[in-house]
Amino acid sequence: MTINYIPELKYSDYQDLSEQVHFQSTEGKIWFGEQRMLLLQVSAMANFRRELVNSLGIERAKGFFLRLGYQSGLKDAEMARKLRPNSPDSQMFLVGPLLHSLKGMVKVKPMQLEVDQESGHFYCEFEWIDSFEVEACQTELGLMEEPVCWSLLGYACAYTSSFMQREIIIQETSCRGCGDERCIIIGKPAEEWENAVEFKRYFQADPIIEELYELQSQVSSLRKCLERQEGQYYGIGQSPAYKKVCKTIDKAARGKVSVLLLGESGVGKEVIARSVHLRSERADKAFVALNCAAIPPELIEAELFGVEKGAYTGANQTRLGRFERANGGTIFLDEVVELTPRAQATLLRVLQESELERVGDSRTRKVDVRVIAATNESLADAVEAGKFRSDLYYRLNVFPVQIPPLRERLEDLPLLAEHFLQKFHLQYHKRTLGLSDKALELCLHYAWPGNIRELENVIERGVILTDSNETIGQDALFAVFPKTGNLRGDRLNADGALVQATDTETSTGWLTQIFEKNVSMDAVEEQLMRHAMELAQQNVSQAARMLGLTRPALAYRLKKSGILGDSGAA
Ligand SMILES: [Zn+2]
Repeated sequence: MTINYIPELKYSDYQDLSEQVHFQSTEGKIWFGEQRMLLLQVSAMANFRRELVNSLGIERAKGFFLRLGYQSGLKDAEMARKLRPNSPDSQMFLVGPLLHSLKGMVKVKPMQLEVDQESGHFYCEFEWIDSFEVEACQTELGLMEEPVCWSLLGYACAYTSSFMQREIIIQETSCRGCGDERCIIIGKPAEEWENAVEFKRYFQADPIIEELYELQSQVSSLRKCLERQEGQYYGIGQSPAYKKVCKTIDKAARGKVSVLLLGESGVGKEVIARSVHLRSERADKAFVALNCAAIPPELIEAELFGVEKGAYTGANQTRLGRFERANGGTIFLDEVVELTPRAQATLLRVLQESELERVGDSRTRKVDVRVIAATNESLADAVEAGKFRSDLYYRLNVFPVQIPPLRERLEDLPLLAEHFLQKFHLQYHKRTLGLSDKALELCLHYAWPGNIRELENVIERGVILTDSNETIGQDALFAVFPKTGNLRGDRLNADGALVQATDTETSTGWLTQIFEKNVSMDAVEEQLMRHAMELAQQNVSQAARMLGLTRPALAYRLKKSGILGDSGAA
């Protein structure tokens, strides 16, 4: 059944609907049929709307309100069918618009309505007068750029679709919320709308959660990045050997226990000491580092514990020692084995009693300093040799941590290299493309006797010698190619098996010979070509492949050097 004219809705139209409303105030409930309802201030809704728009953006907020209306519309379509089971379609359908009015949301003025449940035909054109959403928008958000009657629209879509048992889309073609004279809605089946797909997206579950998870993971990776920078290359490393060290250090960091760092020179002991400090409760206090081997033995006591004016010739003024400067914080003593016997005795007293006297002073001063010591040599051996006090050794050795050399954690080398690349890119204001594959491979086969410090120097050299946007090659990395002894001499043989390379087989071996015998470059080239031709049984194409040349290029060179006559070869 189709009707094209609808009279203005009258009070009597509402009667069966308004009878459904029950205030059960003593129970704290309002009912509409079997649905529990709420009386909510428009101003509160307006405020909430503004907050959603401001925090989620218009598109997302629009989706929320469309879906809010949608849920409500579904319920009401069910009620319409129950309330007016025997009415003509249009009368039954009008329950929806009437309910909109009854709930105080908007006054609906039907302009055109064609509804036929049996054939599925539907078309409507209504005016919405005094929409609460226009009001809410105007008070909180001002004039918008697009129609604003979002939840009303969601309601209308759900209600109509459910009523018609097919997908009907209602859209607002003009809206007072965006400056139009009237709010006009048009409804028709989804397939008759060009923008149906776009519009239906508002009704899908919002992917905001996934976006939040994505952001969350970004935040945590940025945080990790910051932590790394704080502790510099403490934390850079995934090798089991290094992870074990980090775990041990994390345990030691809290508290005041002395830590003894053991390991070769250049493994990053000072950086690790600093990380222990940064992870302790003393993080905001001083961190003082001293290499005991760098101070002349006769001055070490004054340097560590301070000196009173006139204590000895040249002591012109009173000076604080490193311990007093580190008060409340941490002191890092590298190469602690170099301490003089007297300095060892004073250090022991600081550790036991937390007090010291400056050189040439009789006053005792309290200090609260955590000691982290480090050594390349075995302290136990030094004790054995009578060079180091055993009581001090036991005092320092409470928490020993062995830091592995770089060659035992080569898996970490690419990460460390990347770290230093970034550092030197900043320092030298350039951006290279990083290490070439060959250069990286060379690094991974080198024994790194100078450990991380050596790697840092090598990368710095590479960055200096390489222009921006170029790859750092092996020549830029190493001034002299690593000695054979330092190279792990594994190579692949013709069958693809890993074999130990002999000295003469490795590159530097024969290069040395060439220089020693004063052979010219041309002669080297000629020798290479002759050998290749021999191996290839005079087949030029095959020899060219072995030498990494094209056939014409090799043929040209062969002729030029007289190996091959004009007659040519296979
Ligand atoms: Zn509107």
